[in-house]
Amino acid sequence: MSDRTRFLLDETKVPKAWYNINADMPVPPQPVLHPGTLQPVTPDFLSVLFPMSLIGQEVSKERWIEIPEPVREIYRLWRPTPMCRAIRLEKALGTPAHIYYKYEGASPVGSHKPNTAVAQAFYNKEAGTKAMTTETGAGQWGTALAMACNFFNIDLEVYMVNVSYHQKPYRRVVMENYGSKVFASPSRQTAYGRKLLAQDPGSQGSLGIAISEAVEAAASSGGKKKYGIGSVLGHVLLHQTVIGLESLEQMELAGEYPDIVIGCAGGGSNFAGFAFPFLHRNLTQGNRTRLIAVEPASCPSLTKGKYTFDYGDSAAMAPVVKMFTLGHTFMPPGIHAGGLRYHGMAPSISALVDNGNIEARAVNQIETFEAAVAFSRAEGVIPAPESAHAIRAAIDEALQCKIDGTKKVIAFNLSGHGHFDMGAYDAFHQGKLEDYAYPESMVHEAMQHLPNVTLPV
Ligand SMILES: *Cc1c(COP(=O)(O)O)cnc(C)c1O
Repeated sequence: MSDRTRFLLDETKVPKAWYNINADMPVPPQPVLHPGTLQPVTPDFLSVLFPMSLIGQEVSKERWIEIPEPVREIYRLWRPTPMCRAIRLEKALGTPAHIYYKYEGASPVGSHKPNTAVAQAFYNKEAGTKAMTTETGAGQWGTALAMACNFFNIDLEVYMVNVSYHQKPYRRVVMENYGSKVFASPSRQTAYGRKLLAQDPGSQGSLGIAISEAVEAAASSGGKKKYGIGSVLGHVLLHQTVIGLESLEQMELAGEYPDIVIGCAGGGSNFAGFAFPFLHRNLTQGNRTRLIAVEPASCPSLTKGKYTFDYGDSAAMAPVVKMFTLGHTFMPPGIHAGGLRYHGMAPSISALVDNGNIEARAVNQIETFEAAVAFSRAEGVIPAPESAHAIRAAIDEALQCKIDGTKKVIAFNLSGHGHFDMGAYDAFHQGKLEDYAYPESMVHEAMQHLPNVTLPV
């Protein structure tokens, strides 16, 4: 074992196929339901929003799905991304553990999100789509799809959560650089947005509201516009598996194999993208890597939510899926600075947590920012606050190794850099952040508004 720091693959090693977890799921899939009838959706309903190729990926049972060459060509602009061993962090912690991180902040927009944005834009182009709509919270997804739509000559309109639109203007400018139109959500562009603005002209907005607007804008366009989604759905998680597939090869270069794999989880896409290829080994080759999804204590869908059918958005216009949810009426607490604000979780991850294949953990925001700062002081990279949740858990596992005197191999996904998040870091340094544990009583209240699903058994 040498003490090498960076494990790099050349561009010929960009994966040729995505890994589809549907092929190996240990539990049967749950149906996706129509938000109005609460009966299983037909491809017709979904085809208003997505091209058939992506709907096909949603239900495909093929283990390997070929990555089209035009997508690989764009991936090669920044992929394969580096895998690094955080030796200086290990030393700072005094741990016998080896800590590795996969660095998705190396993409042009600074996160893992282009892995699916490029694929979605490609399949839409192939299907003749001329314009797309989407939502974005802090802007990572919006910038990724903006870049991808620009590469494939598709117009894009982005509904950006109002509070971020005003507090984080630079990501809006990034989207405009790539040629997209950006609206603060709730907006006057949609009936749902106008209704909310009439009730509350100063509405801060939420991811759930922005999703509703983007879905409405596509669904009411008479077939002119399709909708792109940044997380949660199966095809998004599928496209992200390039992260874990490269990581498997890079761990091989390092001559080690992880005992623990960690990712932060909002809707679940970067976690799944990193962890599912390792889970494939657990499920088919008897490996016993622990997989840990880390979420904020202020938005704890996996650790405090209920595993049940719920709407994907606030307006109850998006499909109903079985997932861990805090209720589609969830509004993230204003004090929360670390992203990962979605009320639900990807159905496949939810099922795998429920079945015991994946562990879930919630961390508080102050300890999360402490981990982020410790990481940047040791390794240089300033992580996105989202990614810092994974770092917190990786550090905690490494400190446990120090107590136990065990030399585990810990690998986490560093989903993005934090260069646009200096407002949150500033608040942390000024002591303005507070810990906030989302109360059980509010989860209980939100459960009163779940769709009343009765499925034939
Ligand atoms: C969007 C985002 C996340 C959360 O989304 P997932 O779908 O859960 O991966 C995490 N990290 C970064 C950097 C992001 O941009």
